[in-house]
Amino acid sequence: MAHTLPALPYAFDALEPHIDALTMEIHHDRHHKAYVDNLNKAIEGTDAENLSLEELMANISKYPAAVRNNGGGHFNHTLFWEILSNNGSKPSEKLAAAIETLGGMDALKEKLSAAGATRFGSGWAWLIVKDGKLEVSSTPNQDNPLMDVAEVKGTPVLGIDVWEHAYYLKYQNKRPDYLSAIWNVINWEEVSKRYEAAL
Ligand code: MN
Repeated sequence: MAHTLPALPYAFDALEPHIDALTMEIHHDRHHKAYVDNLNKAIEGTDAENLSLEELMANISKYPAAVRNNGGGHFNHTLFWEILSNNGSKPSEKLAAAIETLGGMDALKEKLSAAGATRFGSGWAWLIVKDGKLEVSSTPNQDNPLMDVAEVKGTPVLGIDVWEHAYYLKYQNKRPDYLSAIWNVINWEEVSKRYEAAL
């Protein structure tokens, strides 16, 4: 079964001024589309065609790099669009209580921003649920915490793309500025849903 590019759940300019419309358009319509197209090419005629994206992630060490890179790219970006929004939502009571165990919202933002800022080259910063607890981690390239090869495994509830293509048009080399602005457009309603489902 071929994988398909999901529609962006809002307009390209919905996250302005924090993430600009042109970045969103190129990021979704070209980068994410390329991951989907290249994933489909890489699994064509193989048993991986019969696996869901999640099943593929859990067994990714058995597949070639093209499947890992493009399958990860497809999974990660699908999550990324959903956990962003301009809806001004707040964490649910349950998620807010769990964030307190990490030292509160400011400490969480600091930890995730630091995980993204210190990831050398391209990759992702993650908030995951591991053994029922929230944890911050990061992965290189298009890897993610669902992959059997991940250094820190868990269920991702929030992921921040720190590839240059995610911010370079507006922020150039200033990755920390992008990481500070993105907190204005987190869809906490969706993150809360994912948190409660992961427990
Ligand atoms: Mn990206």
